[in-house]
Amino acid sequence: MKTNTTPLLPTSTAGSLPKPAWLTQPETLWSPWLLEGTRLIEGKQDALSISLGEQHQAGMDIVSDGEQTRQHFVTTFIEHLSGVDFNQRKTVKIRDRYDASVPSVIGAVSRPTSVFVEDAKLLRKQTQKPIKWALPGPMTMIDTLYDDHYHSREKLAWEFAKILNQEAKELEAAGVDIIQFDEPAFNVFFDEVNDWGIACLEKAIEGLKCETAVHICYGYGIKANTDWKKTLGTEWRQYEAVFPKLQRSAIDIISLECHNSRVPLELLELIRGKKVMVGVIDVATNVIETPEEVANTLRTALNYVDADKLYPSTNCGMAPLSRQVARDKLNALRAGTDIIRKEILSRD
Ligand SMILES: [Zn+2]
Repeated sequence: MKTNTTPLLPTSTAGSLPKPAWLTQPETLWSPWLLEGTRLIEGKQDALSISLGEQHQAGMDIVSDGEQTRQHFVTTFIEHLSGVDFNQRKTVKIRDRYDASVPSVIGAVSRPTSVFVEDAKLLRKQTQKPIKWALPGPMTMIDTLYDDHYHSREKLAWEFAKILNQEAKELEAAGVDIIQFDEPAFNVFFDEVNDWGIACLEKAIEGLKCETAVHICYGYGIKANTDWKKTLGTEWRQYEAVFPKLQRSAIDIISLECHNSRVPLELLELIRGKKVMVGVIDVATNVIETPEEVANTLRTALNYVDADKLYPSTNCGMAPLSRQVARDKLNALRAGTDIIRKEILSRD
């Protein structure tokens, strides 16, 4: 059972939330699990329930698992696939930005079993609110691997798109309302995005009846990303390169980083007609936004996004933050959204 009454300006997070200190090292991105075996399985499930409870308490209208059962937003998915060898590691540049040791594709990739479907069922049982589930996007997946088999980024991305489509269809059947693909790589490889990246994304959502979203951000608040942001100049116009084609794509919702970023919000005009998850919470700082700051970002966004298509959200995931900071930021997201809701309703 779930409710179908989505309020005006439905709030949600873009992705991950902090994990409890008994499950992983706190305030550390991608930190290893502190439990093993059955205790780890139970621990992840408990963390999912806690994360959901915190989203309920903060008044989020669309909820998620807070990515409590995964260590990394790309790697955890790939770990479940065949054709990838995690022991054969190569150093590659991630998103043209920082070196990382990554696994190798050594044969045809496939998905022997579902990855997140049981977790999604667990979440579905515990809430009546619409649920959103995040998967890595095809282009971001290939960017986190060394390809020793296909020798073609496009071909490998297409194979991953087919696999993602299988997973997405099972998530939909498990009751997921919105399936989100995380594609930070869309902010970097503009020519490839337009040549085949968006086509791969459309392959991943083929035949789905639930809503679909793509999340395109400037990354977690880690040093490699904040250093990169400093090189981008006073205006960040990366979105401009991919928006026209995204506007014409089959994807329903576009999730973007807006608050404290140098993205000129008038770029949102290029995707007019799409639903937009507008990031109004900066995940790269512990400073808590005031409700008025959140409201200001939303007010500006409303110049370019119709009110019934505006979804207030966070810029990106909050996994590396402390739990209290993340809670406070969710409360700010809700309070700022309430200000704008009142303004809109008083006008009608
Ligand atoms: Zn992000």
